[in-house]
Amino acid sequence: MEQLYRDISSARKAAKDGAYSHSLVLYTSILGQMNKMMTEGAIESGRTEWVQARAKLSNEMALVKKLEKDINDLKLGDDQPSTETPPSDPDVWPLPPPRKTTGGMRGRGMTKGGTSRSREEEKKREERRGEKSMLRKSNSQNGMDRRDKEQPALKKGESTDGRDGRNSEDDQRREQLAKYDKELVDTIERDILQKNLDVRWSSIAGLEDAKKLLKEAVILPTVLPHFFKGIRRPWKGVCMVGPPGTGKTLLAKAVATECKTTFFSVSSSTLTSKYRGDSEKLVRLLFEMARLYAPSTIFIDEIDSLGGRRGSEGEHEASRRVKSQLLVEMDGCSVDAEKPVLVLAATNFPWELDEALRRRLEKRIYIPLPDLAARESLLRISLEEVELAAGVDLAEMAKLLDGFSGADMTNVCREASMMGLRRLTESLDAMQIAALANQKVDLPVTRDDLLTAIKRTSPSVSQKDVEKYAVWMREFGAV
Ligand code: ADP
Repeated sequence: MEQLYRDISSARKAAKDGAYSHSLVLYTSILGQMNKMMTEGAIESGRTEWVQARAKLSNEMALVKKLEKDINDLKLGDDQPSTETPPSDPDVWPLPPPRKTTGGMRGRGMTKGGTSRSREEEKKREERRGEKSMLRKSNSQNGMDRRDKEQPALKKGESTDGRDGRNSEDDQRREQLAKYDKELVDTIERDILQKNLDVRWSSIAGLEDAKKLLKEAVILPTVLPHFFKGIRRPWKGVCMVGPPGTGKTLLAKAVATECKTTFFSVSSSTLTSKYRGDSEKLVRLLFEMARLYAPSTIFIDEIDSLGGRRGSEGEHEASRRVKSQLLVEMDGCSVDAEKPVLVLAATNFPWELDEALRRRLEKRIYIPLPDLAARESLLRISLEEVELAAGVDLAEMAKLLDGFSGADMTNVCREASMMGLRRLTESLDAMQIAALANQKVDLPVTRDDLLTAIKRTSPSVSQKDVEKYAVWMREFGAV
């Protein structure tokens, strides 16, 4: 109950401070908690007062929502292009105004004609962001905004660089983030915000259903925000479940590379150990930033280490608090369909997840060991860069690798591709080995190399483990 009172005063304070998104997240959580307590019969007396209090808080929340909307509209008004008659030369049309809410598929990465913005441009943008982060640091040191010092005040409707609206969009974000701990903002930008990942869907063998679902869950809500409302609201959370080394992290990286949403990646164990006292604040800020940069995806690896069953022996205070914060934030994600934030989680131990977290990870998909076709394709991908000797039949090898995970198979391929060099150096001394630098050492991988490597590698996942996943998926899977 005390926590509820604390949340109420935090929600009101955040609203007073102008942190409307944060305030709305808190109000959503408070009302959710009150509803839960009322439906679960936790309120024995004073029910009428509870109903009144809930209505009052609901009104406050509506007010904050309106304030946030008004302010956003105001900003949009500032950015409206002029209504002057367009010039006759289509090439001198002013650039479109910056998007109100997002970058990603809608605001970033796409140019006129619908083609992807070149890597060059993307790189420049990253650099600009980096500079801004530096700028923030130096501003915080001398306590003043460099723009105030070096540039004349901007006129209404004028963007900071006078070319396009992207800078003013960045400035808005910067203003929003200014009220947070700069160290934490920098930590997220440096360690958690992922850039320049390069994993394509095509470099992942098999897992076609998972790829399809992820594409739908991440891309469609950004393309059709008006469709994904109400009952069709985007998924709050998708959880990839499966044995280790089956490609869960790889899939998350492909989402980051291919879907062009802003991608934040963090592992639960890092959250609970590395940032200790600041972990809750970090989670709150992480979601705030995800909303600011929406559409966004937050990838949480090893979610099980956070979501240990409540009250279970292994549940540490730190992870309990981080988990509670995560639940609050995930509930808050559904507040605004215009700013989709998807939590993408991965776990090798789904049975460790507690119910509250499991419920919020609405889609629970199984990432299995590779089947025969996926194994053959995985071999092809892994051995793409090495020469294969005549007589190597990858379909035959794929049959022998039944029960191996993707990571096991990658190890087999690595091992096999080293064997030629090993054979070559076996009988040589150090001087002779040094002389190899100028010779061809890249010998083709033979069938025997592969067979030996398979013999030397044991699958890391047992049949018993696989059955355990099957049982859990039957009970809790939601595809
Ligand atoms: P998980 O997150 O499920 O534990 P990872 O995604 O980290 O597993 O995979 C570990 C490694 O195994 C990858 O870096 C990749 O080399 C290989 N791998 C696993 N599954 C696949 C797959 N389906 N396609 C291609 N490589 C895979």
